[in-house]
Amino acid sequence: MPPDVTASPVDQLFAELEAKAREARPRDDFAPLEKAFRFASQHHKLQTRESGEPYMIHPLMVAHILADMRMDVVSLETGLLHDVVEDTSVTVEEVRKAFGEEVARCVDGVTKLSKLDFFSAEDRQAESFRKMLLAMVNDLRVIIVKLADRLHNMRTLGHIPQAERRERIARETIEIYAPIAHRLGMGKMRGELEDLAFLHLDPEASAEISKTIETHRETSEAFLQKIRRTVEAELRREGIPARVDGRVKRAYSVYQKMKRQKINMDQVYDLLALRIVTDSVKNCYGALGVIHNEWRPIPGRIKDFIAIPRPNLYQSLHTSVIGPEGRHFEVQIRTEEMHRIAEEGIAAHWKYKEGRKGPAADEQQITWLRHLVEWQSDVQDPGEFMSTLKVDLYPDEVYTFTPRGRVIVLPRDATPIDFAYAIHSEVGQACAGAKVNGRIVPLRYTLRNGDIVEILTQPGHQPSKDWLALVKTARARNKIKHLINANEHTKAIEIGQKYLEKEARRLGVQLSKIGEEELQRAAGDYGYAKIEDLYAGLGYGKMSARQALQKIAPEHFAGEADEAATPAQGALETTPAQGPPSRDDGDAVIKVRGVDDLMVYRAKCCNPIRGDAIVGYVTRGKGVAVHSKMCPNVQNLMYEVERKIDVEWARNTADPFPVKIMVHTDDRPGLLAQITSILSSDNTNIRSLEARTESHANTDGALIEMTVDVRDKKQLEKLVAAMRRISGIRDVERMLN
Ligand code: MN
Repeated sequence: MPPDVTASPVDQLFAELEAKAREARPRDDFAPLEKAFRFASQHHKLQTRESGEPYMIHPLMVAHILADMRMDVVSLETGLLHDVVEDTSVTVEEVRKAFGEEVARCVDGVTKLSKLDFFSAEDRQAESFRKMLLAMVNDLRVIIVKLADRLHNMRTLGHIPQAERRERIARETIEIYAPIAHRLGMGKMRGELEDLAFLHLDPEASAEISKTIETHRETSEAFLQKIRRTVEAELRREGIPARVDGRVKRAYSVYQKMKRQKINMDQVYDLLALRIVTDSVKNCYGALGVIHNEWRPIPGRIKDFIAIPRPNLYQSLHTSVIGPEGRHFEVQIRTEEMHRIAEEGIAAHWKYKEGRKGPAADEQQITWLRHLVEWQSDVQDPGEFMSTLKVDLYPDEVYTFTPRGRVIVLPRDATPIDFAYAIHSEVGQACAGAKVNGRIVPLRYTLRNGDIVEILTQPGHQPSKDWLALVKTARARNKIKHLINANEHTKAIEIGQKYLEKEARRLGVQLSKIGEEELQRAAGDYGYAKIEDLYAGLGYGKMSARQALQKIAPEHFAGEADEAATPAQGALETTPAQGPPSRDDGDAVIKVRGVDDLMVYRAKCCNPIRGDAIVGYVTRGKGVAVHSKMCPNVQNLMYEVERKIDVEWARNTADPFPVKIMVHTDDRPGLLAQITSILSSDNTNIRSLEARTESHANTDGALIEMTVDVRDKKQLEKLVAAMRRISGIRDVERMLN
């Protein structure tokens, strides 16, 4: 029946709806649909929307969205009736009498969902989620109708005059409804909800991205057209039937990419995407081959979601390639059926309800919801329930708990140190260890969802520089950096002063007789404002104490050449090769003779351990490097004798040293077990262990590389000797780095 041109817009919308629904489901009975339309029109008769239109336009548009997804008649009836209980005097009972149990249940569910408040205090929020889940499990059409309702409300959100109300609805959409659509595999719904919410939540960013996309539209489309033709021709040649679409990515997904990778719009390469829809899984892989044959794939960007579908049952092959003109673009390859699931997810199910059996997709979705609901009934703490639900909706976050049940949300891969700083920066600062679920864990432990974390603190404990590599939160990183810098500066001042005093004694300069002004003047010569800064410079090894003394007491050095003017100085001042600065807050296991607390660190080139003969060397900007006397670098360094400092191992500390050991063995089973049993019988901690085969001239062997913690050289020698006694061990070496 062609739409009647004389009919009201409302009647016309209904005529179109019915035609659309009939086309999708020719065998269904549409009498109840018309009845629902009359019923809802009657009750909404006197109402208007914010836009001034008749209210009935809204339920009709919701039903249209559902009809576009080819949902069944019950869903369309629910779409038409979804606001009658909420906004008119009609009761659920009346709906039940007029339209039956199924429709009444769905309308009731949608009405209840409308009343949920997701942004209240945490427990009520959790309660809202719980109710929503129950409604969803009861009948998934409830959430599908609710999503269609939300989509139409988002499309018309601009008509709402109050900014806070708009923002609240947009925020609820992006935080609650879009993730649920995603979870239910409804890619198209999710995409539109996100883009509309983004438009209202961050109009500037949204407009900027859309504008950039718009300015490049012509060239983008020409480019897409070109690669599309190439792909179509190549696929034809291979006999792969396919539909190829080009598209520019959505604004919100571009925005997320920019945020996630901390890049700007110019750096988002693959704004363009190509989609190939073919007839079979075999041809999907065939098409992937065609693409890779034509353009070079970017390593690490090939993803097989056909073999391993996403949790929301999404299936596709993804790849990114470097196309013509060096432009990157993404290609998604899938079958018709995968495409429907990708676009409509759970909603795709209702299409198959009549006639042939539908895919198992919805069964799994329902299983997912059932699991959550069953599980939530076991959980007493609503906060915990909430977190677990969010875990599924937001996979990049980890939900952890304090022993008292407070929820601490951290980024994925966060450690107990992040947790400690999240509680309070003082807890972070004093964090000396952690217990997770009652057991002591190392601080590098990766927190998992549901972990109950207890931070063990020790008054006066200080964060170490190593922590910077362990933390994932900016908060913890900043606090640690700040404290380390402050500590180092204080320490450098102290060291510098002592270093200067020591050198003065050695050279016979009487510092006690030198006034403030001389020191101040010398500091000024180096460009420092304060004497303290001069000390700090000395502590960091920026200049030698002798050079400083020459400036402080020039008369004492009268007749000597000005050291600072020596041409070779520059070359001598270069930092010796001992890796990146690893200035700890002082290596407590080493003492510098005659001076306490000098800023020392073990050189990376030779990694000395207790018991090794050692020697210290003041380096530029890093304090005192302690080398093994056997270290080849020492010979090169030591010709500048005045920088040499005597050092010795401190007693009474049991701190272990990591040592790398290389074991050459025959390639036979059981050897590794023997080695580890030696280590464990000695209580030696193994930090890492890696074994690989090694092919020498004519004998096959294996190479085991490991890092173990030892107290001192004696323990190491004992271990090495024990290992050498194992038959099949060819050699054991200590690696210097
Ligand atoms: Mn509504």
